[in-house]
Parts: sequence; structure tokens; C-alpha cells
Amino acid sequence: MKFFTVVLILFFVFPVFAAPDNADLIIINANVRTMASLPARAEAVAVANGEIIAVGTTKAVRALADENTKIIDAEGRLVLPGFNDAHVHLGAIGNTFSTVKLDDVKTPAEFAARIANVAKFIPKGRWILGSGWDNTRWIPNDAPTKALVDDATPDNPVFVYNTDGKAAFVNTAALKLASINKSTKEPPGGLIHRDTTGEPSGVFRGSAIILISRFVPTNHTKNWSEIIQTASRYAASLGITSVQDTHSDDLLIPLRELELSGKLKTRVYDCISLSDWQKLAAKKTKAATGNAMVRTGCVKFFAEDDTEETAELDRDVAGADKAGLQVAIHAIGPRPNEIVLDSFEKAIKANGPRDRRFRVEHAHNARPQDWPRFARSNIIASMQPWLFHGENGAASDDFKKIFDLRTIVAFGSDASITEFDPLLGIQAAVTSKNGISVEQAVRTYTVGSAFAEFQEKVKGTIEVGKLADLVILSDDIFSIDRSKISGVRVLTTIMNGSVVYASN
Ligand SMILES: [Zn+2]
Repeated sequence: MKFFTVVLILFFVFPVFAAPDNADLIIINANVRTMASLPARAEAVAVANGEIIAVGTTKAVRALADENTKIIDAEGRLVLPGFNDAHVHLGAIGNTFSTVKLDDVKTPAEFAARIANVAKFIPKGRWILGSGWDNTRWIPNDAPTKALVDDATPDNPVFVYNTDGKAAFVNTAALKLASINKSTKEPPGGLIHRDTTGEPSGVFRGSAIILISRFVPTNHTKNWSEIIQTASRYAASLGITSVQDTHSDDLLIPLRELELSGKLKTRVYDCISLSDWQKLAAKKTKAATGNAMVRTGCVKFFAEDDTEETAELDRDVAGADKAGLQVAIHAIGPRPNEIVLDSFEKAIKANGPRDRRFRVEHAHNARPQDWPRFARSNIIASMQPWLFHGENGAASDDFKKIFDLRTIVAFGSDASITEFDPLLGIQAAVTSKNGISVEQAVRTYTVGSAFAEFQEKVKGTIEVGKLADLVILSDDIFSIDRSKISGVRVLTTIMNGSVVYASN
């Protein structure tokens, strides 16, 4: 009795002990697939301080909202954990928006749309550069005017050359930046197209081009801060909330800067080249070192069909592993997969048991007799279903068998070599000859990828205490025709409890 009295007194004096946190954001009336076992399905999710605080019925979750809570009514749509792409080249993805190709454009509207699509993802102030347009092949064939693109590009200067490089098209933002107006005179040999009032209308010819081109930054394709922001916004538009960057460029400094300024919309695990493992070891960096946004501690290498180099590979793998780093080696084809598995197993034997999570990147086209070695030695197969089974059709990996063997698999894209869209990967994995279930494919693109980067305790499922990384899709990929999965749209992406993408 006394005990209850104490509890009651505490409850009334300090109601905060008992009161659940109010939610920053709730998603209600949803078809939630948690990718966890209990519960596997739910109607609603509540989020506070970047974490999931409740998963349950709309009624129960609604009770956590107050006047400051953002409420998203999903209207029955599918909610999944944010996708985690286990194999990307982040800088290269961002750089696909650094140059806009205009050579196959056939109409002014198409020209405008290409430029607007770049503006959608790049940060404010970044230039839109490109080339190849030729209005003489367009219908109608009038020279383009800045009015075509100004609405879509208020904060981004546009500067795109035509097909022979003798003319360039610019927008109002570029004219402003270069302080060019009605009273600007043409240099000798130059021409500025003008409207009826004498204002420059968008096209500069000959020597007049330099009036604008001298303002174009020379580090455009090396401005990693802008390039990563672009890739991150693009990722958010595809429902991707985490990526594992297997490029060997060290992007850690710009990533940390973007994280601090709140401009990073994607969690990044940054891998560097295996040959640089001693640099990380010298700093005592171990696998998955960092915070929930930016981590490092993995090293990546290619294994080719070359036995000469296996001794060196074995030495580096064993050394990096002994230093506590995570090792990921690229292998495509029977012999490279065998070489990597051999090398990993030797390191396991030499360095003893530990939770090391060796990864074979691609693990494509391994010999059937080598597949059981993955599960036996706890080696992760980091696979890209769209790259090998979508685009190129030929399905040589038996996904069903690989999953039946209880192989730990992570899914990713290998963008920018191929498309970044995870729904393409999921569709390829479920429609390939020996396909897996949609549930398995989604789980592999969320839980599997989180495990591959030592993050399964904090993300990958929709559970209380996990990071609030979520995606709302336009259609239920579990019930529609499997061949239509790639046509499903991302409606909302939430990362760390904030909406980082919303389609309109
Ligand atoms: Zn790659």
C-alpha cells in the first residue's frame, strides 16, 4: 500500500514520469509494414526528437499529438522504413546533375523541363551548366528565351552552350549575377538577343558569351559540398534515407560540414580505399565510427581475376581486419568471388572470431559451391539486383537459393553506374527468374543494408527507439502486380523525424 502511495505521489508531483512524450510528427491511417516481427503491421507511427516513439493504432498514436504536432494522414498508403542503399558512389550521383545534356531536345518545353529537373535537386546558388541545344531542330524553332526557365530557376544561374559552342543560353539569375541589363553593350564580334524593350532575352553569341562565362565557377565538378547536397536531395526524392558510399574518395570533411549545417538529408557511411587502411588505423578508427548521420571505418577494394595480387590482398585484408576496420571487396564472376572468400576466410582464421561483417560487393555470379561459404563464415553479400537483373536482364544469381542458404544479404544500386531508384532494385529482385518475395526484397533494402553497416540496432525497422527514417509510397508494392513496382512513386520521405522530401 505504501509503495502505491509513493508511486501515486510521484505521479502527481512529477507527471512527466508518466506522461508520454508528445510527438513532433505522426503518420496516421497508414498501411505500415514495420519489417520487425512485433508488430509486423500497424496503422500509425509517432516520432519525437528524431526517433520513433510509438507504433500502433491511429487512435493510440493520435493521442500523442498536441497543437505543435505535424500530422500526416497517409490515407491508407504504404509506409516503410527509409531505404538504405548499401552500394553507391555518392559524389558521382551528385555529379550527374552537374552537366545537363540537351542534344536530343526537340521542343522548347523539353529544353525547359531538362533544366527544371536539375534545379529541383541542386542547392541554392549552384550553377546549371550544360550544352548541346540546337533550336533550329526544335518545333517551333525560335531561339530560347529566359522566360522558359526563370520560374523554375530563381536561385540558380543557368549557362548552357548550344551544339557548336558559338551561342550560350542564360537565365535571369545569371544575368543578375553578371550585372547585365538593357544598357550592356555587345563587345566586338558579339551579339546579345534582346526583347522588344531591349532587355537581354537569354541567348548570347560569339564574344558576348564571355560576359557571362567569366562568372562560371571553375571548381563546379569538384565542389563536393554542393555535389553531396545534390545527391542527398535526389536520394530523399527516391525514399532513400541512408547510403553506403563505396567510392574511394574521402568525402568525410564536406559530409561533416553539411551535417553540422543541417543540409544533409541522408545518412552516409563513407568507405575509403583498402590501400589507405593504415590511415584509418593510425587514427584508431574502427568499423562504423561516427554518429548516426556520418560514419567511416570501412575500406573497399577490387578483386580481379589475378592470382599475382592475391598475396597483397590477403595481407591488406588481414591487416585492416586486425585493426578493427570493416573490409568490403568487389567481386564479379566465379574466380574473383572465390579469391575474396579465400582471403576473408584466411583473415578470420588468422585474427580469430569477432563481429567483423566482411562484405563481398556485388557477389555476382559466384560458383554455386561457393555460396554456402557466405553464411558459414558470416560474410555479407552486398548485391545490386537492378544492375545485374533489371537493366541487363540476364539473371545468373539464384536469389531464391541464396536466401534459402540464409546468406546475409544487403541490397543497393551501384549508382551512378546505374539507376539509384530502390524500387527498380526491388522489382528486379522479385521478378528475376529465381526471385524472392517483396517482403524479403524490402527487408534486404532496409534491415539487411542496416546490418551491413553495423546499424541494425538503430535503423532498418519501424520500432520504438529506432531512428525516425520513413517513406510513404503511392501504392502498395506488396499487393500490386510485381512488374508495376518500379512505377510506384515516393510521396514523402522522413529522415531523422523531419520531412526531407514531399512530392506535390
Ligand atoms: Zn560500385
